[in-house]
Amino acid sequence: MSDYLKNHPDENGYFGRFGGSFIPPVLEEPFKKIAQTYESLKNDPKFIEELKYVRKNYQGRPTPVSFAKNLTEYCGGAKIYLKREDLNHSGAHKLNHCMAEVILAKHMGFKKVIAETGAGQHGVALATAAAYFGLECEIHMGEVDIKKEHPNVVRMKILGAKVIPATKGLKTLKEAVDSAFESYISQADSSIYCIGSVVGPHPFPMVVRDFQSIVGFESKEQFAEHENGALPDNIVACVGGGSNSMGIFSAFIDDKEVNLYGVEPMGRGEKIGEHSATLTYGEEGVMHGFNSIMLKDEKGEPAPVYSIGSGIDYPSVGPEHAYLKDIGRTKVGLCDDKEAVDAFYKLSQLEGIIPALESAHAVAFAMKLAKTLAKDKTILVNVSGRGDKDIDFVVENYPIPNAKF
Ligand SMILES: *Cc1c(COP(=O)(O)O)cnc(C)c1O
Repeated sequence: MSDYLKNHPDENGYFGRFGGSFIPPVLEEPFKKIAQTYESLKNDPKFIEELKYVRKNYQGRPTPVSFAKNLTEYCGGAKIYLKREDLNHSGAHKLNHCMAEVILAKHMGFKKVIAETGAGQHGVALATAAAYFGLECEIHMGEVDIKKEHPNVVRMKILGAKVIPATKGLKTLKEAVDSAFESYISQADSSIYCIGSVVGPHPFPMVVRDFQSIVGFESKEQFAEHENGALPDNIVACVGGGSNSMGIFSAFIDDKEVNLYGVEPMGRGEKIGEHSATLTYGEEGVMHGFNSIMLKDEKGEPAPVYSIGSGIDYPSVGPEHAYLKDIGRTKVGLCDDKEAVDAFYKLSQLEGIIPALESAHAVAFAMKLAKTLAKDKTILVNVSGRGDKDIDFVVENYPIPNAKF
C-alpha cells in the first residue's frame, strides 16, 4: 500500500479537516465496532483470500483497460483509454465495495444489510452481494428515482431485496440516505448500513475507498502494458459521492506527474437546483455524519441538486475529494447534461460501448481534454458503469443521432 493510503485518513477518520464522524450517540458504539472489525479484517489473510476469490471467480475481475481507437481519432488529440467497470458483474464499479461490505457484515454476525440508492446501481450491487452471501437486504430509494430507474427496481426485487420508497422532499438520493439512516438506527444491533460511496461517517469513506482501490491498482498495471511501462498523463472519472473516482485515483496519488480530474455534473445550469457541482460551488459543512464541501441553500440546509445522471446528484462529496482538491492534488472538470448525452451516443457509436449517463460525464470531459492535448499524451477514463439502465430515458428525450430504420 502506498504511503498516502497508509496515512490517510488519520485515526479519527480525518483527511485534513474533512471527514470525521458526526453521529447520534446511539450509533457511536456500532460504528466503532465496524471500524475495529475492518481494521482487524483488512490484514487477515483469510479475508484477503475470500475477497480475491469472489473478485476473480464471481465478479469477473480484472476488468480490462481498452484503447478507444475510434474515439481518439474522432477527437484528434491525446490517446483515450477506458477502464471497463461497465464489465464488472452487475454493471458498475459498485459491486467492488458491496461484496466487501457484505463479507464485513457476515464476519460481524449480522443477517441483514441496509442501504440507500440513487440510480439503483448501489441497490442492485448490494442486493447481488446479499444474495450471494445469503443475507437479507433492505434498500431505500427516492420515489422520483424509482420511476426513472424502473429496470433497476425490478432487478433488486428479483434479487430478493426489499425496496422502500423515500417520499419526502425532492424524493431523490438525499432523502433516500435520510430514510435508510433512520431505519438503520432502529436496528443497528442486528444489521449493517452499507454506504454506497466514499461518504458518511468514519470509517466508511476509508473502507469504501480501500475496496474500490482495486480499480486503480489494476489500471496501473494494465495501462503500463499498453504503453511500455508508462503511467497515464491524465485520469478522468465522474464524481457523485466519489467512489469510482477515488477507486481509480487512489493508486496514483503518490505519482505527482499524473493529473487527476474529478468530473462534476453541471446539469442544466449554474443556479442552485440546476446542477450538483459540489466541489465547484459548495462550501464547508456537515451533512450525513461527515464534514466536507456541500451545496447549501439560503438557509444553510443541503440544497436541491440535479443531474441527468441519477447516481451523481448528491449535495455533498466524499471528504477525501474535498481534501485532495484543497491541497491541489486533484482538479475538477465540468460536464453538463447535453455534453453527457453527446458522449453517451459517441461512445456507443464509435466504440460499441453504451456507458451509464454518470460515466458519460467522464467520457465527455475526456473528449474535451483530449482535443487540447498533443497526440503523444494519454488519458485514462473510468467507465464506471454500463448504460442499459438509461437507454429508454435517453432515447425518449434525445433523438438517436444518425438513426437508421
Ligand atoms: C453510483 C454511480 C456513480 C456515482 O457514484 P460515485 O460514488 O461518485 O462513484 C457513477 N457511475 C455509476 C455507473 C454509478 O452507478
